[in-house]
Amino acid sequence: MEIRTFGVVGAGQMGSGIAQVAAMSGLQVIMNDIKDEFVGRGLKNITKILEKNVEKGKMSAEDRDGTLGRLKTSVNLDDFAAADFVVEAASENEEIKFGVFRRLDSLCRPEVVLASNTSSIPIGRIAAQTKRPEKVIGMHFMNPVPVMKLVEVIRGIATSDETFQATWDLSIKFGKTPALANDYPGFISNRILMPMINEAVYCLYHGVGTREDIDTVMRLGMNHPMGPLALADLIGLDTCLAIMEVLYSGFCDSKYRPCPLLRRYVEAGWLGRKTGRGFYEYK
Ligand code: NAD
Repeated sequence: MEIRTFGVVGAGQMGSGIAQVAAMSGLQVIMNDIKDEFVGRGLKNITKILEKNVEKGKMSAEDRDGTLGRLKTSVNLDDFAAADFVVEAASENEEIKFGVFRRLDSLCRPEVVLASNTSSIPIGRIAAQTKRPEKVIGMHFMNPVPVMKLVEVIRGIATSDETFQATWDLSIKFGKTPALANDYPGFISNRILMPMINEAVYCLYHGVGTREDIDTVMRLGMNHPMGPLALADLIGLDTCLAIMEVLYSGFCDSKYRPCPLLRRYVEAGWLGRKTGRGFYEYK
């Protein structure tokens, strides 16, 4: 099936980035969130990035206008009846995602692929909410989406070859490099990344080092472009905690226990860049 209209559920940092790359690749895009305010914020972020691209000479004003012209916003999932492929990028919460997939399953044509950008929730559990488990797959973009090259494509136990191929091809159309992971907690990326971030939080908790020293050791000693605490702030501490909980319960192994300090920050609403405060403060 030819993909012309692409739906994105969630207009937060990931959803707006996914909507942007899809519109830049020439697709008609519907970007949905629960409130006008949230889709408005997502669209404002996209417009700002495109403006910067034009200023830097990376994009023509005509391409910017064309990209924005292909983007429609929506606060009603009914609009997804027109979509040929949907990516869900709502908050990392099982109940929210399950509800969205049940609605999408009842609204979208039967041949439409329903992908999730989840960082850690098993694709099989999401697929089981629908009557089309063979059409459900993980399409895991990295943050910030317009910049990062990787898409981790996650095959659920029931995902068909056709669904896998369509998702793989779409990732390439978006200018990304796909990598295949099977459906185990955290997949590949967060199985490796998140325990490292959690261990950095433990280093802070145990007073092994200051936030700056922990990040400096990993940047200069291991050649990481960002320190793990700064990266956690970029990802969102609520998302980091949610992923650790999935690893912990999925493997029943104490090595994945979330650091109590991470939990304390999340409880305080210190979620990182998106709330202006995490391990660092942001203006
Ligand atoms: P975010 O908090 O920036 O955005 C989530 C958005 O989902 C919010 O705007 C919220 O209003 C919206 N939402 C909540 N319930 C909804 C519903 N029922 N229908 C429509 N929209 C709804 O979070 P984010 O960082 O963009 O993360 C979104 C997803 O992407 C999560 O599953 C997360 O694990 C995953 N992800 C995040 C990163 C990262 O670095 N932040 C990287 C890869 C994947």
